[in-house]
Amino acid sequence: MATSHSYFKLHMENLSDLKKLLSIPKDIVITSHRNPDGDAIGSSLALYHFLNKDGHTVKVIFPSEYPDFVAWMPDAEKIIIYDVDVEGATNALQKADIIFALDYNSLDRIDKVGDIIAPLSCTKVMIDHHLYPENFADYIMSDPSSSSTCEMIYDFINQLDQTSKLDKTIGECLMTGILTDTGSFSYSTSPKLFNTVSELLKLGVEDYKLQDLLFNSLPEKNLRLLGHSLNNRMEILEEYKTGIIYLTRDDYDKYEIQRGDTEGIVNYLLKMKNVKFAAFITEQPNIVKLSLRSKGDFSVQEIAQKYFKGGGHKNASGGASFTSLRSTIKKIKEILPEYKEQLLKS
Ligand code: 5GP
Ligand code: MN
Repeated sequence: MATSHSYFKLHMENLSDLKKLLSIPKDIVITSHRNPDGDAIGSSLALYHFLNKDGHTVKVIFPSEYPDFVAWMPDAEKIIIYDVDVEGATNALQKADIIFALDYNSLDRIDKVGDIIAPLSCTKVMIDHHLYPENFADYIMSDPSSSSTCEMIYDFINQLDQTSKLDKTIGECLMTGILTDTGSFSYSTSPKLFNTVSELLKLGVEDYKLQDLLFNSLPEKNLRLLGHSLNNRMEILEEYKTGIIYLTRDDYDKYEIQRGDTEGIVNYLLKMKNVKFAAFITEQPNIVKLSLRSKGDFSVQEIAQKYFKGGGHKNASGGASFTSLRSTIKKIKEILPEYKEQLLKS
C-alpha cells in the first residue's frame, strides 16, 4: 500500500493551465459523493457560487439525495440528483468542459455517475482530503491533512488569487463543511484551519446561526431513534475497547429512518472513555453499511479498506458488507483480536 505522503498534492499542479481554462466562461459540472454530507454539499455549493460569479454555467450533480439538515443552503434545490433525474444528470455531464470531483477520490464513490465520467475526455479536477486518491483526474489537489474539502476550496480559491471574490454566501457554504467535518472543531483542527475560519467570519458568516441550522434542528423521531440505538442496539466489548451499534431493517421501518437520520449516532460510542473503536452497522436494502470511527492513533481506514471495500480517514471511515447484518457484526468481532494490541495501547 502506498503511503499517504506519496500522494500529497497540496498545491494544484499546472495551476496556471487551469487558471487559463477558467478565464473563459465554460460549462462546468461539480460532482460529489453518494449520500452527500455537509462537506460534500458545502464544498460543491461554495465552488458553484464562486464559479457562477465568474460567468461560468455551473451545475452540481450528486448521485443520491442530500439530507434535510442541509436543505436550507443557498441553491441546494438546484442540485441535480442522478437517482431522480438520470437524463438531466447524464446530459449535463456529457456537455461539460470541466468536471470537478469534490470530497471523494475514487469513482466508485459516485456509483453510476462514475461510469459516465470515466470515458469522458473533458478536463477533470479533483479536490479532496481522503487518503489514497485514484488517478482519474487531470488536476489533483489532495490533502489528507486538511479538515475538510471546504477548507481546501478556500485554499484553491486562494491559489487562484481570487479571495476577493469570496462573499458571505460562499463563506456559509465553506463553514458548513468545516463545522460538519470537524464535529464543530472537535477534531482535524490546525492553526491554518482557524486562520481560514477567521477569514470566513470576516465575510459576515454567522457561525452560531449555522450551528443551530446544522446541529440543533432535529425532529423528535431522531432523538427517539438515538435513544433506541443507545438503549437497545449497543454492545460494548470492553476487552477490545470497542463499541458497536447496529440498526435492523425493522428499525428503519419503525423509526421511518431516512438518509441523514443516523448521522452522528456512531460518535456517541466514542464518548465512553474506554472506547477507542466504534462501529455503526446498518442493514440497507441491498448491502450492510459500516461507519467506523476511532480515537487517537488507531486507524479505522485500514479496517475499512482491508475488510469492507471502503476507506476514508484514519479516525473516520466507511465501507460495506455484502452478507447479512448478523454475519457482518460477527465479522467485526472476529477482526478484533488482530487489533487487540493496538487498541489496548492506544
Ligand atoms: P461515514 O461513516 O460518515 O459514512 O463516512 C466516514 C468517512 O468515510 C467519510 O469521509 C467517507 O467519505 C468515507 N466513506 C464512507 N463510506 C465509504 C465507502 O464505502 N468507501 C470509501 N472509500 N469511503 C467511505
Ligand atoms: Mn469531507
